[in-house]
Amino acid sequence: MPAGPAGGLSTIQPMNEFDVHVLGAGIVGRSLALGLARAGLRVALQAEPARAGAEDVRAYALNAASVELLRGLKVWDALPAGAATAVLDMHVQGDAHASAIDFSAWQQRVSALAWITDAAVLERELASAVRFAPHVTVVDAASRVQATLTALCEGKASASREALGVGFERHDYGHQAIAARLTSSRGHQGIARQWFRAPDVLALLPFDTPQPEHSYALVWSLPNERAQALLALDRAAFEQALMQATGGEAGELQLVSERAAWPLMQAKASAWCGPGWVLLGDAAHVVHPLAGQGLNLGLADVAALVRVITQREPWRALGDERLLRRYARERIAPTWAMGQVTDGLLGLFSHEAPALRELRNRGLSLVNRLSPLKRWLTTRALDS
Ligand SMILES: Cc1cc2nc3c(=O)[nH]c(=O)nc-3n(C[C@H](O)[C@H](O)[C@H](O)COP(=O)(O)OP(=O)(O)OC[C@H]3O[C@@H](n4cnc5c(N)ncnc54)[C@H](O)[C@@H]3O)c2cc1C
Repeated sequence: MPAGPAGGLSTIQPMNEFDVHVLGAGIVGRSLALGLARAGLRVALQAEPARAGAEDVRAYALNAASVELLRGLKVWDALPAGAATAVLDMHVQGDAHASAIDFSAWQQRVSALAWITDAAVLERELASAVRFAPHVTVVDAASRVQATLTALCEGKASASREALGVGFERHDYGHQAIAARLTSSRGHQGIARQWFRAPDVLALLPFDTPQPEHSYALVWSLPNERAQALLALDRAAFEQALMQATGGEAGELQLVSERAAWPLMQAKASAWCGPGWVLLGDAAHVVHPLAGQGLNLGLADVAALVRVITQREPWRALGDERLLRRYARERIAPTWAMGQVTDGLLGLFSHEAPALRELRNRGLSLVNRLSPLKRWLTTRALDS
């Protein structure tokens, strides 16, 4: 990978040498920089200038493997109180009232099914950990960086991936996800709730900020036009629409943040690595957020690459494609499987034909009675 853009004579800076040049200071890029630095490598982390604007209102459902990684980076335990809430139960409802599936941490013998984590707070904590990491140097696009390996963590619109000529096969769903924060008249009791209501999918993720035990993070995926119509509603009308969609099952809901929307797609890169470069996170793969797995997959990429690098033969160069292929081989299969599951679920629940509706509702009730299958599904979601 080339370093930063070539400058004229007057702007030439000294070349700085690093082991790894990480492009992109999102959660995946920062976690990778910290992980590699802890392994003793010299890392240049390329960040874009901070943009003014509203804070990310999303809260991510992080699995046990992601929490373990962030704990190892000394970030998880530094999160302020109220920034992460354990999910103890999950209630997933089909479009017929009687069809539902329940997952419970207790039944699955785990301490939590997931942890709902404030996106903006996690980003801030990672940024602060990077500032204090002795082997990480934050650089900008104009810096002249020489490194043996370039790790692309630039997100789904990665320009460097495109510059390398790596394809990105994408399927746009024609849907958007609206995210916002809510409070409720009823305590959440650690229960995540999800409604599959063809064609939309609505999730209420239990959260403890601003009101402990009475807050939710909303993720509501809908066809583009319907999402835009909901965003155009005033606060009271939006709350009314929420009450209608949830049937009041989570109590009376109040909007306590801005609403923001993200276009939804499924995508995968045609190659994950080459001589001297590697892709991680959304730059390599994007999945629908209905299963809350995109970032979990990205953090699993980080854990895998750090492990492959630290376990390499002493004589093997960091940019050796054969080394990087070990990482890609490990990650491509679980990422593909997760993409198939989320896409399949969405396809199944987006049809409004009565026969299909009946079939999927029966299917949900059946899965609910099959403990081993439920355990298998939970394990996949916890480990991604
Ligand atoms: C509504 C919604 C809800 C979601 N909920 C969940 C969830 O519950 N659980 C979950 O696991 N996942 C969830 N996801 C998925 C998750 O948001 C993404 O998978 C994750 O943010 C990807 O992180 P990333 O660091 O790879 O990419 P990004 O978050 O896109 O970060 C990339 C960063 O790189 C910067 N950048 C780009 N180019 C350059 C460059 N050349 N130099 C320097 N910097 C650059 C960008 O500005 C950006 O800051 C959700 C997604 C959506 C849309």
